[in-house]
Amino acid sequence: MNSVDVVVAGGGGFIGGHLVADLLRKGRRVRAVDIKPLTEWYQVHADAENLVADLSDLDACRTAVSGAEVVFDLAADMGGMGFIENNKALCMLSVLIGTHLLLAAKDAGISKFFFASSACVYAADRQTDARVTPLAESDAYPAMPEDGYGWEKLFTERMCRHFFEDFGLETRVARYHNVYGPNGTWTGGREKAPAAICRKVAEAVLSGRHSIKIWGDGEQTRSFTYIDDCIYGTQLVTDGSYADPVNLGSDELVTINRLVTIAEEIAGVELTRSYDLSAPLGVRGRNSDNSLIEERYQWSPSTPLRDGLAKTYEWIFDQVRTGSGLVQMA
Ligand code: NAD
Repeated sequence: MNSVDVVVAGGGGFIGGHLVADLLRKGRRVRAVDIKPLTEWYQVHADAENLVADLSDLDACRTAVSGAEVVFDLAADMGGMGFIENNKALCMLSVLIGTHLLLAAKDAGISKFFFASSACVYAADRQTDARVTPLAESDAYPAMPEDGYGWEKLFTERMCRHFFEDFGLETRVARYHNVYGPNGTWTGGREKAPAAICRKVAEAVLSGRHSIKIWGDGEQTRSFTYIDDCIYGTQLVTDGSYADPVNLGSDELVTINRLVTIAEEIAGVELTRSYDLSAPLGVRGRNSDNSLIEERYQWSPSTPLRDGLAKTYEWIFDQVRTGSGLVQMA
């Protein structure tokens, strides 16, 4: 193995691929690790050391972190609501990745360990209204997170805290709120709302069938974080001195209906909407309270939803047009 200073676990995935690119731009020596065969990585960077390994295995984690200074844990078996509501056991099994990476990092004397947590750790009873009060970090307790996926994230957050307190491993945790952008999952069942909506709009444009099916009544609310803001914030949190979890998200709250309207405006179409009220929905409303990250790191997202969605739509339109992947006409 070559000598590297940063390891990106989940480097073949959406956020991992962008993080590797940015670290390489900054001159870091990067090892990207993912369980998927290289042909399925969203981005393969020739300048990185690219390793295919199953990080739920402790020995694989020891190999993955060897010789490194910093570890970013972005590896998880995950997806949008359609995936996490129907695959709770698979989501919880990601606990093996976090556990074994933490152990390997501790034993290897890693100086910083970043864990990608999620807004899904927040207690369900604080998210029952579309007109939400933004979620502050303390709202994760008393704990009642998203079943399966959210419990795993909350548990691994706690492990990070105790590895820091008990073993001195410098852990950092960010709670991502719906990250979107090019080079991510846009089809196949794991895609999240922004990518799914861009795909459906692109399919409508290309097929001439000007209709769209929306999950739920479309009045559920969320905020969406553009990938560049996520990558910048992730490194800020990792480099910083604050060890407890911080929100890393946009606070531009929109309904899903509004998200569809923005995508339609970008594409220059107006579609007939139908609503699937039996689809998996998650919580009714969620927004990020960014007070803590603003105070600690003077960070706030810089990409308006319309700008980020325009870039995402352009990329997804291209994927649909060129047939790269399974195109489903919803
Ligand atoms: P992604 O699915 O694109 O990337 C995750 C990667 O982890 C995948 O490439 C997958 O193959 C890899 N992986 C899964 N199991 C593995 C294993 N056993 N060994 C090695 N690699 C394995 O997802 P993403 O959107 O890039 O998310 C990155 C991280 O951020 C995840 O931990 C996710 O839970 C978290 N997160 C993402 C969002 C979001 O909106 N995208 C929101 C909150 C939290």
